[in-house]
Order: sequence, then structure tokens, then C-alpha cells
Amino acid sequence: RPTTAELRALDAAHHLHPFTDHAALGAKGVRVIDRAEGVYLWDSEGKRLLDGMAGLWCVNVGYGRERLAQVAFETMRDLPYYNTFFQTTHAPAVELAAKIREVTPEGMELVFFACSGSEANDSMVKFVRYFWNLQGRPEKKIMISRNSGYHGVTLAAASLSGLTPMHPQFDLPLPGFEKVDAPYWFRDGGDLSPEEFGLKAAASLETKILELGAGNVAAFVAEPIQGAGGVIIPPATYWPEIQRICDKHDVLLVADEVICGFGRTGNWFGCDTFGIRPDIMTMAKGMSSGYQPISAVVLGGRVAAAIGGADEELSHGFTYSGHPVTAAVALENIRIIEEEDLVTRVREDIGPYLQQGLQSLADHPLIGEVRGIGLLGALELVADKATRSRFPADRSVGMICRDHCFGNGLVMRAVGDTMVVSPPLTISREEVDELVRLARTAFDLTARDLGV
Ligand code: PLP
Repeated sequence: RPTTAELRALDAAHHLHPFTDHAALGAKGVRVIDRAEGVYLWDSEGKRLLDGMAGLWCVNVGYGRERLAQVAFETMRDLPYYNTFFQTTHAPAVELAAKIREVTPEGMELVFFACSGSEANDSMVKFVRYFWNLQGRPEKKIMISRNSGYHGVTLAAASLSGLTPMHPQFDLPLPGFEKVDAPYWFRDGGDLSPEEFGLKAAASLETKILELGAGNVAAFVAEPIQGAGGVIIPPATYWPEIQRICDKHDVLLVADEVICGFGRTGNWFGCDTFGIRPDIMTMAKGMSSGYQPISAVVLGGRVAAAIGGADEELSHGFTYSGHPVTAAVALENIRIIEEEDLVTRVREDIGPYLQQGLQSLADHPLIGEVRGIGLLGALELVADKATRSRFPADRSVGMICRDHCFGNGLVMRAVGDTMVVSPPLTISREEVDELVRLARTAFDLTARDLGV
């Protein structure tokens, strides 16, 4: 087995990493993760890390679930592969589709499988186009999404994404992808109350629809809570107003549930938490807790009726759509979420407990806002609490803090100067206490570095 040094050398020579500044890695090289159990990771040097991010917001049932390994083994032994093309199916795909239907909101009907959140969103854009074509309204093509949104990296998904660094390297967004405001009260709210600001942010959608012409707008796509944009919790007024605008202008409403889905916000989906009635949902991550790469697009109401009832072959699908092993693992993962009642646990017990723990950090001189729902949380680092003013971007305060977290044994992610958390839904109260304690130490060390 290669040593850590050998792995680092091979990695530097041959491995092109996603979302990594390779030049900045320097001699230190990458961190090598060896194993994981519960909410903890161990690196190749034996250091233990509390994973406050559940990997990339995905390991909802925690690491080390033997049951999932067992189901993967048995399915791989009995039916390692077969496709779902050309009037063929198999039990894992069928049972998973039925289970997804069971846990999604009323009105959701048809489940299409893909392998990643990006593929689900890319497929969704095609389904939106197909729906309007079937309605005889092919001019309804423009997709509207939001600044600070993240929907993945394929050409269409990156075009939907509103995190601007994702665009210039690839000459994106593609034509026909428009952006509106994020409901980011702490940054953009000024003197408005959160409720007033929620309406203002939603109004930017109506303004955009009117500017483009409602007859040209196909869909509005949004995460119930923007995750990678910095855990941006919309004010209570925001989603009802968005729903009203989409209904009024006959614009499909698409909920990207890739982070919010499968219990993260204390309900099965973010749509349940905010009372959103989507036409289409996309999901991934917590669907298999990251144990296998699988995602889905779920079509509801008139979209399901039109596409499901079309009298022609659907010319879309992946070799691995509904792959038996990924589907069987996702199904078993959802059964674990049900059996352990993790959704209720997040809503009534561990979610409020985490939020209370994060709020206890609000007195720290660096922290301008603490916000969160369920097991999603964000702590904004600011130069001045009263004016909410930020540190200059080139000071990379979030990165300094993230490195102190790592140094301390805690994985927290930095989105600019916002520190975000999204631990496994199985995290215990003692582990939450540890997370909060380690975070405070990291904030203290960051403040010391900054001379605050
Ligand atoms: N949508 C949301 C809301 C996400 O957070 C992500 C990934 O973080 C994606 C889509 C893309 O998923 P994937 O990385 O599986 O392609």
C-alpha cells in the first residue's frame, strides 16, 4: 500500500481535482482521507476530523452503514447491471421510484433517474423544453434562476448556477439562462426588515419575467435554501410570493432539492418546509447518503401528464439511469431514514439543538449573523458587527478560519467569509457540543491572526 507521501506525489502528478487551485497546493499537497465512521473521518496520518459537512452535504445517514454495503454487495452479485431503456426494468429501480413518490409532496408523479445533481438538472432543462413543446408553446424557453444559486457543472446546470466564478473559464452561461436576486437579507437587506426584503427579492423575478415577456419564460429554478451560495435562508415572505408570481405568469416552478432533500431541513424536502408547490423537483446527495452516485428528476401534475402521456419515445436517458446497485442502495438508505425517523429527529430534536449551539457563538466578535434551519447552518464573519461590513476579500478570512477548523479537527466549509455546516442527520448532542466547541476555538484563532 502506498505511503501518504507517495500518494501525494502521484496525486500531484496525475490527478486533476474538481474545484481545486492546483498551483496553490504547493509542497504540502492534498489531505488523504483514509476511513470514516459515524460523523468522523480519519486522515492517513491518523488525525480524526468531525465532519461538519457530511462530505459534500450528502452523508445524511452517517458513515459506516453495514446495511448499505451489504445491499450493494448482494445487488452487485445478483444483478450488477441492467438498463431501464426499451421497455425494460428491474425491481430496485421500480421500488425506488415508488418510494420517492411516497416521500415527495402530493402531486409528484414520475421519477427519472440520473447519476448526479448536475445530470438531474441538465435533464430537467430538457424536460422543461419538452413540456412546452408538447403544449405547442416552443417559444417558452428561457430558464430563470438566481444569483448565488448552485445547480451543478454540466453546461446547462452551470448556466443555471449563479456563482459567477463558474462562468468565465467556460464562456457561460449559455444563451437563454437569466438570473434574478437571491433573498440574501444579511448582505443585501439594508434597512429593510427580512419580511420586506423577502418581497423585494421575489419581485425581481416578476420584473424579469415582464422584461423578457412571460410567453418566453419556461421555468424558474431555485434551491429552497441556497446551500453552496452560503446557506441563504429566505425570509418567510419570499416563497409564497415566488409561488404567486410563477402561477400568475404560467412559469414552471422547479425546486432543486439536491441539498435540502431527504431530511436536511427537518422535513423530507425543502418544499415541505416552505410550503412550495413545485412542478418539478431535482434531488441527489441525501438520496443515497452519497454511498452511490444517484439522482432523480421528479415530474408533477401537468408536466408528468404531458411527458408521461406523450405518444412517442422519450429520446433521453443514461446508460446508468436507475442502475440496480445505486437504486438498491438509495432505497435502503431511505428505509434507514424512515426506520430511524431521522426527519422528525432533525425537526424536533437535533436540528433545534444544533441551531441553539450555533446561536451560542453569536457573541463572538467575528460573527455578524448566525442563521440556519434543521441541520443546515451558517455563521457570517464580519469586520464590524454593527454595520455588517465585511473584511476585504483578499484577506481570505473564511479560508483562514476553515484552515483553523481543519487544524482543530473539524470540517467546516467557507463560502467567502461565511462558514457553513451541514452534518450527518445522525449527529448526537455530544457531537454537536464538540462541533460548537471546535468552531469557537477556530474563530478565536482566526480573530488572533486578524488582530481582532
Ligand atoms: N444542485 C445543488 C443544490 C447542489 O448543491 C449541487 C452540488 O453541490 C448540485 C446541484 C450538483 O450536484 P452534483 O455535484 O452531484 O452534480
